[in-house]
Amino acid sequence: MDTTIFSTIESEVRSYSRGWPAVFTQAKGSTQTAEDGTEYLDFFSGAGALNYGHNHPTMKAALADYIASDGPVHSLDMMTPAKRDFLQTFQDVVLQPRGLDYKVMFPGPTGTNTVEAALKLARKVTGRQHILSFTNAFHGMTLGSLSVTGNSMKRKGAGIPLTNSSKIPYDDYFNGETEDFMWLERVLEDSGSGVDKPAAIIVETVQGEGGLRAARLEWLKELSQLCAKHEILLIVDDVQAGCGRTGTFFSFEEAGFTPDIVCISKSISGYGLPMALTLFRPELDVWTPGEHNGTFRGNNPAFVTATAALKEFWSDDSFQKGQLAEAISIVQDGLEQISSAVEGSSVRGRGLLTGLHFEDIEVAEKVAAEAFQNGMLVETSGPDDEVLKLMPALTTPKDELERGLGIIATAVATVTGTDVEYRPGDRELVGS
Ligand code: PMP
Repeated sequence: MDTTIFSTIESEVRSYSRGWPAVFTQAKGSTQTAEDGTEYLDFFSGAGALNYGHNHPTMKAALADYIASDGPVHSLDMMTPAKRDFLQTFQDVVLQPRGLDYKVMFPGPTGTNTVEAALKLARKVTGRQHILSFTNAFHGMTLGSLSVTGNSMKRKGAGIPLTNSSKIPYDDYFNGETEDFMWLERVLEDSGSGVDKPAAIIVETVQGEGGLRAARLEWLKELSQLCAKHEILLIVDDVQAGCGRTGTFFSFEEAGFTPDIVCISKSISGYGLPMALTLFRPELDVWTPGEHNGTFRGNNPAFVTATAALKEFWSDDSFQKGQLAEAISIVQDGLEQISSAVEGSSVRGRGLLTGLHFEDIEVAEKVAAEAFQNGMLVETSGPDDEVLKLMPALTTPKDELERGLGIIATAVATVTGTDVEYRPGDRELVGS
């Protein structure tokens, strides 16, 4: 296996290829195969960009047909049938059944692009500059997104002051000892507080990169009420937690509120193709034509696979209530089993954006490395990489979920020296 070209010419900035020193040649469903023939069970799913696994046959067929038909690939924000079908399907399958009245904006095709668009729009609509975000938040690598991100190593990379934003405590930051919104409510009401009224508050319902902290639904609802009361726009960054990852299409659905702005990317194309959306209430659509543009906003192959994915999985609730709900319960049950056997560990996250927090901050990385040796891709999260982060595809069959949980249990046992065993339940995974 020759990897010299990667270590000589590719920048030192590369990271995944260091922890997973394999050259991947094939990817299908939840399996990636390396050049040396080793098969890896993928519990990473392209950092959440592959919620339906690798090369799903429905999306692959739609994409192959589109390419064979010589349909336009690149179209900026011009009109194409592929974009028309996507917008219609998104309206019919996602927005309308959930009673959501949003305009759809296509920013550049990445998560940080939709966050930048959201921040810019919130500032333009309100005429205010300040944005509040949360401790341990992660919103992307461009300057605006970095300014609302918590991680000090990533922030330092900016090389300039990150201004016009402040951090406020995420749910449970003080272990329930301090009333959650006490400081925020007080400073917003006190004209002498010196805290400028923000244009927006941006929040992840589950902090994917920041250590899999999951906000309680009632906390999110309270946050939305506070924002409404003070006319502050609420942005939900659903780049990682959205597209079914937490068990519903949007991660905020069960919390019973409607964000003013929603950021979507990663799995919206359903196939790992770059694509992003910024959704907002129609009254907020104050953009002038071309005010926020970008060359790669019209990625037609992504529109085609996104449409196929929405039709395949979200046109009724059978996937959500069947296979997805079962997969979540299998994974949550497995993690509970492992965590109850290992002192100093706890289950974090929600749905299939979940994992194990270890008080000993060295454990998670060692477990991920051990799992790789045993044929599995699973990553870590959190400021000290102290959380083992599981993100299997939502479509992973029952036997593969159980096999993965078994590999993790064995790796945890090896690393911690604890007697951990995973005993799969006897559930039937609907549709697998
Ligand atoms: N927001 C959230 C919540 C994310 O998890 C990420 C990526 N991990 C981003 C934004 C940035 O997305 P991208 O890497 O595509 O710019």
